[in-house]
Amino acid sequence: MCGIVGFTGKTQAAGFLLEGLERLEYRGYDSAGIAVLNDNNLTVCKTTERIKNLTEKTNGGKDIHGTTGIGHTRWATHGEPSDRNSHPHLGGKGKVAVVHNGIIENYLEIREFLEEKGVQFTSQTDSEVVAQLLEYCLGLDEVHCMQDAIYMVLHRIEGAYAFGIVCADDPERIYAARKDAPLLLGYGDGCNFIASDVTALVKYTRDVSYMEDGEVAVLTCDSIQVYNAME
Ligand code: GLU
Repeated sequence: MCGIVGFTGKTQAAGFLLEGLERLEYRGYDSAGIAVLNDNNLTVCKTTERIKNLTEKTNGGKDIHGTTGIGHTRWATHGEPSDRNSHPHLGGKGKVAVVHNGIIENYLEIREFLEEKGVQFTSQTDSEVVAQLLEYCLGLDEVHCMQDAIYMVLHRIEGAYAFGIVCADDPERIYAARKDAPLLLGYGDGCNFIASDVTALVKYTRDVSYMEDGEVAVLTCDSIQVYNAME
């Protein structure tokens, strides 16, 4: 299991994401990536080299605009280390981006279900099913918001996970969920954070709380709400 970071605030997100990922490098990884929302546009940047390469590619993050984003260092379990297998993974319409630590055990069954519905997969990972299933659920009549879609996905998947999720239609929020994989929330001043490891946050805030299994958190720049998805 590798690293997750996320930031939503009033200042640019990319700088924190790159620095946060660098602080998680000590855990080891084989590839990395970030996704940043700017209004309704999602910018994704990945590398199979060091985080330094992502930093160089993006001019220290300055070339990526937006105040909400997520980042990931991957330790591959399903599919070789490559750009297409590295996170964040997107849904087919490019609206939803997901970073995942852990393993989705029933991913093949979900992948087959979605492929029958015409969804095309671009990676070999277990994690991509989450982004694709989220976008599929967002298209259902009974689903009215991201939170509904996330609950539906959490009830369908089996395995261990920590997720950071953003959606281009909902550009000022980060959604987080966990089960059997660590994820914590960081409370800042005009900004809020997620991270899989407190090391990523110590420079920014000491005010943190650890998420429990089955919880979903919704972060904006000035609030964090935590819900129990399994009730
Ligand atoms: N199972 C996922 C993958 O292989 C996530 C691995 C991780 O925790 O970094 O992409």
